[in-house]
Amino acid sequence: MNFLSELTGSFSQNSASNPTVEMVEAAYRHHKLDYRYINCEVTPDQLGDAVKGARAMGWVGFNCSQPHKVEVIKYLDGLGESAALMGAVNCVVRRDGKYIGENTDGKGFLESLKVVADPKDKNIVILGAGGAARAIAIELALAGATEITIANRDSNRGNELVDLINGKTKSKGQFFKWGSPYKVPTNIDILVNATSVGMAPHGDERINLDIESLSAGLVVADVIVNPPNTLLLSDAKAKGCKVIDGLGMIVNQGILGVKYWTGITADAGVMRDALAKVL
Ligand code: NDP
Repeated sequence: MNFLSELTGSFSQNSASNPTVEMVEAAYRHHKLDYRYINCEVTPDQLGDAVKGARAMGWVGFNCSQPHKVEVIKYLDGLGESAALMGAVNCVVRRDGKYIGENTDGKGFLESLKVVADPKDKNIVILGAGGAARAIAIELALAGATEITIANRDSNRGNELVDLINGKTKSKGQFFKWGSPYKVPTNIDILVNATSVGMAPHGDERINLDIESLSAGLVVADVIVNPPNTLLLSDAKAKGCKVIDGLGMIVNQGILGVKYWTGITADAGVMRDALAKVL
């Protein structure tokens, strides 16, 4: 008999505050799972040793955050479909003794979006072209979005993501060089803020957007977790748009991770409450 808890956790460079710990541990407690989720501070030069250590200790899996999402791939045994397309991993799962890299960033977003809109056959604008935008864009493309516009300040980053969408998925990707306030075209169904604008301690920072171009009927989603009620979402609500906050994305990522590691579908309410307490 094994008297030790199963181990899971997070490898991040700055482990000072990681709300995922409270959220996942709350799910383990609620479902009486003998699992633990441990926050580990891992610097880039120690990442290979950290993965070796997890293998040696029989960890069931772990999350990793930036700057480890791409680097970790060389220490794994394989990749899931969307992680392979994105070239980034945020969730590692032990399957038949092998560490397989998955990406739950985009999947978590998709689950949270589906409550209000199905991205299939929709025209979507994503503001930003960083890690979160990349994961969201690929998952929306795999879910059947018709057209995905990437609006970003940096053209290289933006065009790289557009090339990935056009080269590896059936959706049509296009780039918009973002400089002046972004005017949402009238044919757009879903607008996603995947930049870091509005994140604490800069919660009073407004995104460079023409608020008058937000029409009722548009779905506006924000990835920002803290604060969840961003200025973008309050502006969008005032214009009659349906809104989705960043908490849904992180909770659904947590649910996917727990499902991958334990096979249990965790209670979303328990995880969201635990998250709200620490934010
Ligand atoms: P990256 O650093 O990879 O990318 C940041 C993006 O934001 C870039 O496209 C950058 O544009 C853009 N950006 C930054 N500042 C501005 C600005 N003032 N105006 C316009 N664009 C700007 O970050 P990530 O993609 O990893 O994360 C982005 C956000 O998503 C973070 O706040 C993170 O906390 C959140 N997140 C939320 C998750 C959730 O579960 N809710 C999961 C993962 C991330 P440029 O390239 O031009 O510099």
